[in-house]
Amino acid sequence: MSERLIIIGNGMAAVRFVEELAKRSLGRHAIAVIGEEPRLAYNRVLLSALLAEEIECSDIELRPPHWWRDRGVTLRYGARATSVDPIARAVTLSDGTRLAFSKLVFATGSQPIRPEMPGMDLPGVHTFRNIDDVNAIAAVKGTGARVVVIGGGLLGLEAAYGLAKADCEVSVLHLMDRLMERQLDQMAASMLRRAIEAKGITLHLNAETSRIAGSGRVEAVELKDGSTIPAGAVVVAVGIRPSTELARGAGLAINRGIIVDDNLETGISGIHAIGECAEHRGVCYGLVEPAHEQARLLARRFSGEDARYPGSVPATNLKVSGVDVFSAGDFLGATAGADEIVLSDPGLGVYKKLVIAHDQLIGAVLFGDTSDGLSYLDLIRSGASIEHLRDQLVFGCEPTARIAA
Ligand SMILES: Cc1cc2nc3c(=O)[nH]c(=O)nc-3n(C[C@H](O)[C@H](O)[C@H](O)COP(=O)(O)OP(=O)(O)OC[C@H]3O[C@@H](n4cnc5c(N)ncnc54)[C@H](O)[C@@H]3O)c2cc1C
Repeated sequence: MSERLIIIGNGMAAVRFVEELAKRSLGRHAIAVIGEEPRLAYNRVLLSALLAEEIECSDIELRPPHWWRDRGVTLRYGARATSVDPIARAVTLSDGTRLAFSKLVFATGSQPIRPEMPGMDLPGVHTFRNIDDVNAIAAVKGTGARVVVIGGGLLGLEAAYGLAKADCEVSVLHLMDRLMERQLDQMAASMLRRAIEAKGITLHLNAETSRIAGSGRVEAVELKDGSTIPAGAVVVAVGIRPSTELARGAGLAINRGIIVDDNLETGISGIHAIGECAEHRGVCYGLVEPAHEQARLLARRFSGEDARYPGSVPATNLKVSGVDVFSAGDFLGATAGADEIVLSDPGLGVYKKLVIAHDQLIGAVLFGDTSDGLSYLDLIRSGASIEHLRDQLVFGCEPTARIAA
C-alpha cells in the first residue's frame, strides 16, 4: 500500500519535489498537495516579467492540471493548512477537512516583510510576492500615479523597472549606501545605479522611511531626514520572512526558518521542510535554485537513497532588460586567503570580479556581460581546481574557443 505523503504549499519547491519523486518512485507514495493560493502552481521568478508585460499570465503556469492527475497527485489548491498534529499525524485544512499522513513536507515558502510603521496598511501600499500582488500593482499603470518602491534589492528594482516601463514616475528608496548590497560589491553597485537611473528611475540611497502618509489612502512617503516624496502607490520590497507559523504551532524547532538537518528532516521523524521555509545549517535561502536542490535531494531520500544535503551556493541574476547583473558565492572575498581578479571597463559598462581561494573559484560578480555566469557558477559548485586556467578565467570559461571564433 502507498505511504500517505502530504506536501503543504503548492509553490516552486513542491512542484520540483513531486516531479523528482514521480521520476524515481511513482506509486510508492499517495501524494496530496495543499496550496493556499487559489490557482495551479506558477513560476514566481517570472512575476517580474509579468509585471513588465514581457510575458502573459498563462506563460508562468508550471504544470497543467493533467500533469498532476497523471502522477496520481491529489491537488487541493485554494485550501490553507491551518494546523498539524504531529502525534495523531494529521493536517487540518481551512474548510475543516482532516487528512492523515505518514510523511509530511513543509514547502510553505516565505512572506514579504511589512515593517512596523504608520501607514503600512493604507490602501495603495502593496507587497510583491504573488499574482494578486502583481495585479494590484499593475492597476497603477496608466493612471499617471507616482510610485515609491521601498527597497533597492532585486525585487524592488524589478518592480521599479516594470512600473517605469509603463511610464509611471518611480522613485526607489534604499536604506543602504548601495543597491543590492547582498549580491554586489561597491563597483558593480555603482554601475547598476547608473543603469537604473538611465531607465528614468529616481534612486534615493541611505533613505530611511519613517512613515507612509495619507488620509484614506497613500499620498506620500516620509523619510527620517524630514523629506517627503509624494506617492499615489507604494511597493514595499524590503525582504522576506520564512512562513513558519504552522510548523511552530506543530511544536517544530524554528529559528528564522524551520530547522532541518542534512536529511532535510525536522526534529520529528517523517516531517521535513524544503524551499524558502527551511533553515539548514543556519541558512535560509531566498532563492529558487537551492529550493530545487533540496526538492531533488529529498525525493532521492524518499526513494531509498542515502543522500545528504550539503548546502547550496547562492546565485542571482537581475531581470531588468538591458541591465545584466550576476552574482554568486562569496563575491566579497570574505573567505580567509581569498584573492580577487578584476576586469573593469566603466566606459563599456563591463565589470567582472572573480574571487579565488586555494586555487578554486569561490565567488563572482559580473556586470554588463554575464554570459559566463553559469559557467562560473558550475566552477564554484564543483570546487574544481582553476590553477591551469587562472590567467584566462576572467576573459571567459572557454577563451580558446572564443579566440578561434
Ligand atoms: C517577483 C519575484 C522575483 C523573484 N526572482 C528570483 C530570481 O530571479 N532568482 C531566484 O532564485 N529567486 C527569485 N525569487 C524567489 C523565488 O520565487 C523563491 O525562491 C521560490 O518561489 C521559493 O519556492 P518555495 O516553494 O519555497 O516557496 P513559494 O514558491 O513561495 O511557495 C510556497 C507556497 O506555499 C503556500 N503556503 C504557505 N503557507 C501555506 C499553508 N498554511 N497552507 C497551504 N499553502 C501554504 C504559499 O501560498 C505559496 O504558494 C523571486 C521571487 C519573487 C516574488
